[in-house]
Amino acid sequence: MQIITNKKVWLSSPHMGGKEQDYIKEAFDSNWIAPLGPNVDGFEKDLEQYLSKGVCAAALVSGTASLHLGLRLLGVKQGDEVLCQSFTFAASANPITYLGAIPIFIDSESKTWNICPNQLEIAIKDRIAKGKKPKAIVAVHLYGMPYNVEKINKISLLYGIPVLEDSAEALGSTHYGEKCGTFGDMAILSFNGNKIITTSGGGALVTNSKEIKDKAIFLATQAKDNAPHYQHSEIGYNYRMSNIIAGIGRGQMQVLDSHVQKRRNNYNFYLEQLKEFKDISFQKETNGSYSNRWLTCIQTSSYKLREEIRITLANENIESRPLWKPMHCQPVFEKNISYVNGVSENLFDKGLCLPSGSNLAIEDLKRITSIIKTILQ
Ligand SMILES: *Cc1c(COP(=O)(O)O)cnc(C)c1O
Repeated sequence: MQIITNKKVWLSSPHMGGKEQDYIKEAFDSNWIAPLGPNVDGFEKDLEQYLSKGVCAAALVSGTASLHLGLRLLGVKQGDEVLCQSFTFAASANPITYLGAIPIFIDSESKTWNICPNQLEIAIKDRIAKGKKPKAIVAVHLYGMPYNVEKINKISLLYGIPVLEDSAEALGSTHYGEKCGTFGDMAILSFNGNKIITTSGGGALVTNSKEIKDKAIFLATQAKDNAPHYQHSEIGYNYRMSNIIAGIGRGQMQVLDSHVQKRRNNYNFYLEQLKEFKDISFQKETNGSYSNRWLTCIQTSSYKLREEIRITLANENIESRPLWKPMHCQPVFEKNISYVNGVSENLFDKGLCLPSGSNLAIEDLKRITSIIKTILQ
């Protein structure tokens, strides 16, 4: 049996800024221990100011809950079809099924690794021809890389199908200077433990209207009508963020830009150290895009090499992970219709996410790259 003595290196671990506990203490001191209060309002304001463009943000319990509410607010109902990027985490697709709607999966383009505009348009035309116009498009900025915003928005406008922008991995990324989370008809953010900032668990729904934000909060707090007794005319949810959790978010917002910088530095270090090797390549920024580099992703020349790197790192107590397994290849969605071109399957087959936390030490980065270099040489 091998005894692992090396220090554990995580793929992406929480990184507190220092002020989080002050906000939590304030909540305790003022007894705002509830799913509402000054930290919730303050965190929403911080997010709105950060994203700018006059957007409104509703703080919720998770990114998944935000997607669920977003789809519902876009009018998705039982039996509807929703087009969803296949190359993503399951949480992008699962909420479609919560509403009794059906996810239809769209493959990626090789440039951004995100939803392919050509496949998307082929799918829309085909669904319309079959008498089933899709209700919404779920597009994802995977690993912090902006999707092809211009083309996706153009298709959305042309066919009158709204975009729900899954920006769970892309807080701090921009496209031509505008923040990810402001491009879709609605957008969602995630503050799960492994994301660029974390509240331990949490999310937000971003919209461009105060009215929709208010409606989201109404649904997220059990859809209570305005009456002295408990009165309900709609089905609601218990999805509102706690004032304690929001305190963590307020502290994290102060270090978001420095986290982005540190994750970008990780990427640049890996790139500098490994660019000479022909057997691996990196996820690249395209015109106008600026990635938060949530995770540094490489593509190797073969499945065998990818596995050799992954297993060697694991034996050194270093966590790395294959890229997302596409939804159209997941057992749970095997009966769903998909429009595929091979791009995401190839990425999944040969791609690897390297440790990318904003709290990685330079010694960790050096250790990781020297192990990879030894394999490649
Ligand atoms: C993390 C993530 C989500 C879900 O967010 P939670 O806050 O964990 O519910 C959704 N989509 C993508 C692409 C994610 O990475």
